[in-house]
Amino acid sequence: MARIPKVKELINTRLASTYGGWIYCDYCGQNIGYLCYVTYDHFTFDYKCKCGHHGHMHIAFQDSNYIKTSQDKFIIIKNRLCCPHDHSPLLTIFSEKLEDYKFEIVCVECKRKYQEEKV
Ligand SMILES: [Zn+2]
Ligand SMILES: [Zn+2]
Repeated sequence: MARIPKVKELINTRLASTYGGWIYCDYCGQNIGYLCYVTYDHFTFDYKCKCGHHGHMHIAFQDSNYIKTSQDKFIIIKNRLCCPHDHSPLLTIFSEKLEDYKFEIVCVECKRKYQEEKV
């Protein structure tokens, strides 16, 4: 089923598909992560790649007023960060390829927002 994003911003960043798949730094071409297509409602990602360039992503399908923030930790299954409540696979970040990063992601299934940061 096709979903139409309300917001889609990609700065210095390339996505393998319309709103998911492998994530690449557009400067050095490094594969820096993977975003699952159908399990998120909102995704914001700011990072500094090891090549020295900053990148930004923001993709949203829904308005954000229904969201509850969760402090719970992801479950990690085969390096995929998964929602701890319903085990939805959400994304992978190759943190060793990034100087720093920060992301927020909302799980479609349970509408919880998770955040993670490396500084
Ligand atoms: Zn790079
Ligand atoms: Zn969930």
